[in-house]
Amino acid sequence: MAEHESLEFGKADFVLLDSVSLEEFMANLKLRFEKGRIYTYIGEVVVSVNPYRAMNIYGRDTIEQYKGRELYERPPHLFAIADAAYKAMKRRNKDTCIVISGESGAGKTEASKYIMQYIAAITNPGQRAEVERVKNMLLKSNCVLEAFGNAKTNRNDNSSRFGKYMDINFDFKGDPIGGHINNYLLEKSRVIFQQEGERSFHSFYQVCVCVSVSIDALIVLLIHSVPSFSPPQSSINDGADFKAVADAMKVIGFTPDEIQTVYKVLATILHLNSKVVAVIGVLLATKEENVGKALLYRTVATGRDVIDKQHTTQEASYGRDALAKAMYERMFCWIVGRINDVIEVKNYDAKVHGKNTVIGVLDIYGFEIFQNNSFEQFCINYCNEKLQQLFIQLVLRQEQEEYQREGIPWKHIDYFNNQIIVDLVELQHKGIFSVLDEACMTVGKVTDEVFLQGLNSKLAKHAHYTSRKLSPTDKSLEFDRDFRIRHYAGDVVYSVVGFIDKNKDTLFQDFKRLLYNRLESTHTCYPLSSRPPPSLSHGPTVAFYDALITNFSSPFFPPEPYYVRCIKPNDVKSPLLFEYERCRHQVEYLGLLENVRVRRAGFANRQEYPRFLQRYKMISEFTWPNHDLPSDKEAVKRLVQGCGFEHDVAYGKTKVFVRTPRTLFCLEEQRDEM
Ligand code: ATP
Ligand code: MG
Repeated sequence: MAEHESLEFGKADFVLLDSVSLEEFMANLKLRFEKGRIYTYIGEVVVSVNPYRAMNIYGRDTIEQYKGRELYERPPHLFAIADAAYKAMKRRNKDTCIVISGESGAGKTEASKYIMQYIAAITNPGQRAEVERVKNMLLKSNCVLEAFGNAKTNRNDNSSRFGKYMDINFDFKGDPIGGHINNYLLEKSRVIFQQEGERSFHSFYQVCVCVSVSIDALIVLLIHSVPSFSPPQSSINDGADFKAVADAMKVIGFTPDEIQTVYKVLATILHLNSKVVAVIGVLLATKEENVGKALLYRTVATGRDVIDKQHTTQEASYGRDALAKAMYERMFCWIVGRINDVIEVKNYDAKVHGKNTVIGVLDIYGFEIFQNNSFEQFCINYCNEKLQQLFIQLVLRQEQEEYQREGIPWKHIDYFNNQIIVDLVELQHKGIFSVLDEACMTVGKVTDEVFLQGLNSKLAKHAHYTSRKLSPTDKSLEFDRDFRIRHYAGDVVYSVVGFIDKNKDTLFQDFKRLLYNRLESTHTCYPLSSRPPPSLSHGPTVAFYDALITNFSSPFFPPEPYYVRCIKPNDVKSPLLFEYERCRHQVEYLGLLENVRVRRAGFANRQEYPRFLQRYKMISEFTWPNHDLPSDKEAVKRLVQGCGFEHDVAYGKTKVFVRTPRTLFCLEEQRDEM
């Protein structure tokens, strides 16, 4: 396995460690990081450590080295896993996916882009124009999505603030013919509030810094008139990014009108936050007084009368914020929808006839702990719990269960199962979501405090939940509003303030009216008209989780995803620093050691007897062209003996298990030589 790599760089696969201990694992991880070897395998799982510097390992020449090779022929790399997924899809004619996980700033989004780049580079040898078009769109879409969905946080200068599941569709030749982007739960509250040192979405700064020729002169003027919006200095080059995004939008096919509209929406939101009603009127092409009225009054029906009731200051500012958030979210969903319009498989023949398979790439926002954690962090962290659960089920549990089922001698390996935390959040009637949704649906004034009381009474005994009320002496729980969840990745204290509002996410009817009236009065496009985002059309919470989880548990979801597990080496973005404790913590909570143990004790490959025979029967005179042994199992035994691989193989009830990939590799070679 990976013998081409000198030991001076450590072991290329953690499975090859002399003994499996945390110390050995860490020593290998550290050594490899210091030697610039950022990727290491655990079997077919890639462990990646963020190098925080440009690596010269993603070029055309490297791509060529990985193309069509087996995993173990080359040093560990994302390209190898991308190639493996691609080959598996083609060979088995089955959908597959790559799940990328790790905390914020660990390198998930970068990894997803390299994977897509690789797939684009190795496909379409015939240079078919339509396929080239699709590939170009898929690659360009990242730039646009990041401009509108990413932001600088204290964890990551380019942090994804939405979840993304991107499908790439392939035709029978294995060339990309389309794709689809599912986006999940944009953190829209960022539009109106950012923690100290953070920024709103990149798009706002881009449009402010680079109000150049490409923007309508009036909008330029209006953007410049935004008072008190000075983007904090940072490493980000908003000017250059603006040009790249504008270019990408053009290539994808956004019309000039649509692009101007996007700028207009950005300008409107900036002005909403700065309270200049007149300008908003111009931007929305409606009268100033309409805007003022919608912002300051509520239309209520009392009996037979309809009256305008003035908002309190608090109500008015809440309403303004809700409007800004909703506008941005809808625009984002509209942009994703527009991208999908151009990348979705158009060719009806390709869709219906021939095989059409999919590789999905999942890149969500990583687990995060801030100084102040609210509903947003709660959702993000829950989502990461779900992903960890998926990993546990597929990599740790199912693997072990299969050995049991097949009667292969097996010593059970223990691991922490985070199902208990998933339950804490989602159990019917007593999970956090249930309590929250119940609170939100209660008529009358339900406060965040009431919700917290609900949690305390339902979850008082739960090992992973506590609150100030339940643990008054606990120093990490500073305020009455605090509660704490013991996540698989660490303890997070959440402030309950805002949970109810954020979950309800109401947009005052009057704003809707303002925007829809605006729509009727003109025929130019306005993103607010189309595709209401899922979270606005559903009831409280769960819309997003439904979408994500349904995706995962659907029978169509590929049963064997490929995994990339990303590790963040330090909190200061340094290419040199391997903070031991920080990394050890991640290795532990990601369950990587357990992964190595299961993998080491286990088998790299298993196949049902008939399928194994089908593929390799030509190697042995006993099985070619047919065998006369009492069963396929006997025939496989005979074949394996003939090749001298008995030591590396175990025979289950229905399947043959092969311990090391090398054996499989040799079988493949012999088959090719026939
Ligand atoms: P979040 O959950 O916040 O979205 P993430 O896991 O997606 O985080 P990335 O945005 O992919 O993190 O990575 C953060 C930064 O780390 C990148 O902007 C880049 O500077 C650096 N980085 C990550 N991976 C690589 C890599 N392979 N080579 C060079 N730099 C990298
Ligand atoms: Mg990201």
